Amino acid sequence: MTCPFCEVENPGNPCSNCKRDPTARRKVCAACKKMTPLAEANCCHCGAKQFSEMRWKIPTIIIMFVTAFLVSTIVAVFMQ
Ligand SMILES: [Zn+2]
Ligand SMILES: [Zn+2]
Repeated sequence: MTCPFCEVENPGNPCSNCKRDPTARRKVCAACKKMTPLAEANCCHCGAKQFSEMRWKIPTIIIMFVTAFLVSTIVAVFMQ
């Protein structure tokens, strides 16, 4: 087994070289195409900023919730 983040052989858990969990959730960096931990904001290889999927999903869910609330309020006012 090789550490997916620093590419050291038989790293152990946590990795003896980079101190990361080699089984942690990871993604491919868009800039350097290497594996970087999902939990880290920047790529562990090139330092490129990583855009987590959750970061735009949460505001989208909030906006949808607020919109649904406003629509139901407006509907309730007009139905009176
Ligand atoms: Zn490592
Ligand atoms: Zn990178």
